[in-house]
Amino acid sequence: MLNVPPQAFPAPASQQRVAADSRAKVPLKPGRSLMDWIRLTKSGKDLTGLKGRLIEVTEDELAKHNKKEDCWICIRGFVYNVTPYMEYHPGGEDELMKAAGSDGTDLFDQVHRWVNYESMLKECLVGRMAVKPIAAPKGMLPEKKVLGASAKGLTPSYDWFQTDSLITVVIYTKQKDVNAELVIVDCQDKQLRGEIIMDDHSYLVEVDLDHAVQEDLAVNIAEKVGKVEIILKKKDNIHWKMLGRPLESHNTLIKRTGRGLFYRKCKLVSKTEVTHDTKLFCLMLPKSTHLSVPTGQHVYLKQIIAGTEVVKPYTPVLPFLPLDFKEPSCHGGAHVYLMIKIYSCGLFTQALDHLQIGDYISVSSPEGNFKKSQVQTSEDLFLLAAGTGFTPMVKLLNFALTEVSCLRTVKLIFFNKTEDDILWRSQLEQLALKDERFEVQFVLSQPTKDWVGKHGKISSSLLCEFVKRSRKDSKVLICICGPTPFTEQGVQYLKDLGYSQEEIHAFSA
Ligand code: FAD
Ligand code: NAD
Repeated sequence: MLNVPPQAFPAPASQQRVAADSRAKVPLKPGRSLMDWIRLTKSGKDLTGLKGRLIEVTEDELAKHNKKEDCWICIRGFVYNVTPYMEYHPGGEDELMKAAGSDGTDLFDQVHRWVNYESMLKECLVGRMAVKPIAAPKGMLPEKKVLGASAKGLTPSYDWFQTDSLITVVIYTKQKDVNAELVIVDCQDKQLRGEIIMDDHSYLVEVDLDHAVQEDLAVNIAEKVGKVEIILKKKDNIHWKMLGRPLESHNTLIKRTGRGLFYRKCKLVSKTEVTHDTKLFCLMLPKSTHLSVPTGQHVYLKQIIAGTEVVKPYTPVLPFLPLDFKEPSCHGGAHVYLMIKIYSCGLFTQALDHLQIGDYISVSSPEGNFKKSQVQTSEDLFLLAAGTGFTPMVKLLNFALTEVSCLRTVKLIFFNKTEDDILWRSQLEQLALKDERFEVQFVLSQPTKDWVGKHGKISSSLLCEFVKRSRKDSKVLICICGPTPFTEQGVQYLKDLGYSQEEIHAFSA
């Protein structure tokens, strides 16, 4: 039996309703949760009004369906009748209506390209857009290749070599300062995928290998010259005639947002309690994956819940908060640690909590727009976190206190409901004792009468006190993360206090 949230929970005005999607602005009506939507899609009801037929849709036809009560949207060439989905959209009906009767691909990619609409909206599929004859000159390459070619000299290239036992794929990024976080390699079922992140672009080598290789691979990076070597071990010591068959996106340089999210299955190796409702999940990457999640970035987890693929973002943390943390060398693959609050009626977190040690879950490549360089040039770092909005602050704290010498002060103000909700309280207090640059303050919104610390929610007066520069002209960075209203209010207060956009980083999806 599925653990289906009762329709009355949370209360209609509850913050949790608004927080179902990080960008949600509109509370959903009772009975309109994601689980309710999944139920409706499984009910056998004709959601397109076409009795299961798929049709070819012309632009003129698409444009006719532009009303709330009759709304079609095209995403990546597929047309969906989203009329029945209107009330279930966490971002609200008006947001969905922005793409009514038109191609909503760009809008979708801007807002939440990670949501796997194919699975969520499969019962709403009307058909494909009719292909317009294109009068393209002969030999013209598709858009993604043209992009690479236009930057000719700067476009990465690749080559490969072999010995009796090894295959080495070399990628010449033609870019300095390529580090391990910018190289993501996976090899699954003979398919090799090597991605290099180059600012907002991604270069991909993607081939179906000629022969089988062993599970573990190695990646060597010559940072200064931007050369990346992927070393694979042949399963059989035979001579390969070719590296393999190029796959669709092979040897392309395109905008990162244009690449679909890539997932690999990771094994749950441990699950430990952090507080009464929050757990630390340790996932092991396959040996055939090379990936490390940069500070300030998140990954997406994907699970199939009641037959529908559901995706949610989570921000990896470290296993604990020491100074000078280094990933321990370990057998098997590298680890990803996630600190996750289990909501009693949460669709995804309830399913996560039911995972057993040894079970597998799909984890995406990292995403996010935080740049470490923002911290590297700061003298004062102020971190504002609420609830699990603490998660991006973990790696950020470690990075700031171990690698940024110009920082004079690092302060965290951590908002929670009760004392029992404070994540890693004693670790934070110990860190403050250990490093005099670091200070932590806890603020409770629902304290017991014994609480002698600060109480309340985020406010201008609290922030005014907290974000004071250590010197008159100190270079400041303020990072904020928590429930959407918390972040939005915080950013507004900071702006009112005179801080500029460049001095504030708000974490969001
Ligand atoms: P949902 O089912 O989405 O419910 C969320 C809340 O809404 C719950 O309180 C639930 O009770 C309530 N709800 C239930 N039914 C409805 C309804 N009908 N309408 C509206 N609301 C309803 N979380 C972490 O714990 N750790 C992290 O590291 C983390 N990182 C994140 C990073 C990013 C970039 C973002 C955007 C979010 C992050 N989150 C993180 C939050 C996470 O993505 C999920 O939103 C969270 O785990 C809740 O998922 P859920 O499916 O269990 O809850
Ligand atoms: P919670 O409900 O336990 O609340 C923690 C504190 O947040 C409260 O004590 C209060 O001080 C503050 N708060 C809550 N609602 C508020 C409101 N409406 N206005 C002002 N302040 C408010 O928090 P939680 O359940 O741990 O939720 C954490 C949130 O952080 C989730 O919404 C999650 O999606 C988000 N999150 C985002 C990211 C990210 O964007 N990168 C990462 C992690 C978590």
